[in-house]
Amino acid sequence: MARPDYIICLECESEVEDFTWRDGEIRRAACEICGNTDPDAFSLPEDFDQDVEDGEDSEAEEDEEYGESYDNVEDEEEE
Ligand SMILES: [Zn+2]
Repeated sequence: MARPDYIICLECESEVEDFTWRDGEIRRAACEICGNTDPDAFSLPEDFDQDVEDGEDSEAEEDEEYGESYDNVEDEEEE
């Protein structure tokens, strides 16, 4: 994963460019606005965007109406 141009401070939702990027993760970050220096309290812009706009395209992973294709269940009896 390429280093993003900036990351988002989850404490104050500011764009932060002062951070260390390594192995696809935020290693160190420092928010000038609120003083946050906890790498876990920052988010990538793309992840942050996904959190904001939820509910628009909910993926259809629900298994509805599959109950009719289970007619072969009673094969277990041996005589
Ligand atoms: Zn901040």
